[in-house]
Amino acid sequence: MINPATGTTFAEAPAVSEDQLDAAVRAADAAYGTWRRDEGGRRQALLAAADAVDRSRDGLAAILTTEQGKPLKEAVAETYAVSAWLRYYAGLELAPEIVRDDDRGYAEVHRRPLGVVGAITPWNFPLTLAMWKIAPALRAGNTVVLKPSPYTPLATLALGEILRAVLPPGVLNVVSGPDPLGASLTAHPLVRKISFTGSTATGRKVAVAAAGDLKRVTLELGGNDPAIVLPDAPIQKLARSIFWSGFMNNGQVCLAAKRLYVHRDQHDDLVDALADLARTVHVDEGTVEGVELGPINNKMQFERVSGLVSEAIAQGATVAAGGAPLDRPGYFFAPTILTGLSDGARIVEEEQFGPALPVLVYDDVADAVARANRTTYGLTASVWSDDPDAAAAIATELDAGQVTVNSHGTAVRPDLPFGGHKSSGIGVENGPWGLLGFTEIQVLAGPARRKP
Ligand code: NAD
Repeated sequence: MINPATGTTFAEAPAVSEDQLDAAVRAADAAYGTWRRDEGGRRQALLAAADAVDRSRDGLAAILTTEQGKPLKEAVAETYAVSAWLRYYAGLELAPEIVRDDDRGYAEVHRRPLGVVGAITPWNFPLTLAMWKIAPALRAGNTVVLKPSPYTPLATLALGEILRAVLPPGVLNVVSGPDPLGASLTAHPLVRKISFTGSTATGRKVAVAAAGDLKRVTLELGGNDPAIVLPDAPIQKLARSIFWSGFMNNGQVCLAAKRLYVHRDQHDDLVDALADLARTVHVDEGTVEGVELGPINNKMQFERVSGLVSEAIAQGATVAAGGAPLDRPGYFFAPTILTGLSDGARIVEEEQFGPALPVLVYDDVADAVARANRTTYGLTASVWSDDPDAAAAIATELDAGQVTVNSHGTAVRPDLPFGGHKSSGIGVENGPWGLLGFTEIQVLAGPARRKP
């Protein structure tokens, strides 16, 4: 394991063998029969799990910052999300729907768990995204085998250890290892659903592999999320918020703003404001007091971002801020604002997933909307304006799973569905909708029941 702030190895993580994976899946399968029948026990266990995470907050956050790079306070925030999700799902009702109940008979729609769920996660929010799967899957009565990213397995393994004390054996299993382990989990015949978060390219492979035995899939994939600043937007007031829409977690967020469309009249002023912020943001190791951005998580991503930025500059982009790696060990890249690009540039067309934001000019709002939608992705989007109604009207024109006004990516909550349109995914996570994704419908119908 490499600490991205130093570029040096600091730990090792197990690479689980095929036999060990099989043992983990079999343990989950063996635990399923009892677990699925004890709804009260499951709800209690999720509450106990939340308490256990609360007690372990500092240790978990420290591991997360060391392996992921994010500022410690953001790692701590991830641990709060973990316990919030556990408590939310412990409290969520999953009652049968009664469609008919009269003197001729009854008909009810029940939701049954699926069995063993394979959960696969990326490296940007290892704990939060794992819990988006664990909490609803367990609440619904499934058991879980979870495979974290090979870049960030340690906090997830530590989470597994913490939860082992409060969950029955076999209910949650964490297996770490390189990418082929994810493929093996997806192919395992005892796994009935794959809940996957990661890139669109890998998501396609998961979908193909799952099709073999018709495993259920939820795919939370990449995004190239547009933010449209309408001509009336009070840009000086909104600039900070627009900046952090693109740079939260160093831009390594599926739902970060990745393309910013600004009206020609406001373009230069907004670029100046964003560039000022980019130049003054505190970039350092995640453990340093007051740090706002850490390193990019891994060498491959660091090289990808560096390559996209260099290519844009070579094609004539103007660098308003940043534009290059920082001259220090580790995978640090200066927060970068690029202008003068057209839509065909790779950093505009592809998901950069890093601290570099292209700002694009438009003259006509309809044109900005058309360009924003001209992508195979559709995860999130945002519209910025002084007029909430005008912004909401534009928001409904954008093809994305979540569209927010005067903020970006802020509709992520345990009780709201999150999921992508088009190549950004299939299905949703969170809220009752996310819970239903870990269930299968069963209709129970029969003659009239005796009334008491
Ligand atoms: P990735 O697709 O490379 O890896 C994700 C996970 O899949 C890892 O655990 C990896 O080991 C595993 N994996 C790799 N090959 C596999 C295979 N053939 N079968 C099964 N599993 C396999 O993604 P990443 O680089 O870790 O994460 C970044 C991507 O994740 C970005 O595209 C980002 O937008 C996306 N993401 C999406 C969301 C969302 O909710 N929509 C959230 C966070 C990140």
